[in-house]
Amino acid sequence: MAQMPQLLQWRDSYHFDRRGDLPCALCGGDTPMRSHQGEPVHKVCAEAWNEAHPGEPRFVSDAQPRRGNDRTVHA
Ligand SMILES: [Zn+2]
Repeated sequence: MAQMPQLLQWRDSYHFDRRGDLPCALCGGDTPMRSHQGEPVHKVCAEAWNEAHPGEPRFVSDAQPRRGNDRTVHA
């Protein structure tokens, strides 16, 4: 069974730049997505980068809600 890439959780609105697309830092294609550092990058490109660079915190998932809370997280 092939190992699935670790998927990033980028649900927060700041990952989507409404001002428009910028060239992805990894593939050069236009993307409205932004990393935590404001770097324009496709989410799938960031996930692929993470696979190739294990342990480097360039692209990270949103902070997870604390355990014990019910699922009333608003986007
Ligand atoms: Zn890309």
